[in-house]
Amino acid sequence: MFCKNCGAEIDDKAVACPHCGVATGNLATASSSNGTAVAGLIFAFIFPLIGLIVSCVGLSKSKSCNGKGKGCAIAGIIISILEMISGIGIITWWFLA
Ligand SMILES: [Zn+2]
Repeated sequence: MFCKNCGAEIDDKAVACPHCGVATGNLATASSSNGTAVAGLIFAFIFPLIGLIVSCVGLSKSKSCNGKGKGCAIAGIIISILEMISGIGIITWWFLA
């Protein structure tokens, strides 16, 4: 591959250009995969529905990124579902009480 900044030929797996130091797409892909999964896990605690969607996106992204963030994404999905079940339970109890 070639550096987007200076055009020098660099290793396909390089995370940064050794010539000019600019980060390549490799690092962005890796961090966005993890970032999505982590964001999904955080959202799962605050907004379960958004957390579930973001975690699913993070899980699908982790497949194309050597499984990075997979555990985090699965945890986010499980927590989101549990949060929604408990949320529905609380609302039901609140209406019946
Ligand atoms: Zn460069």
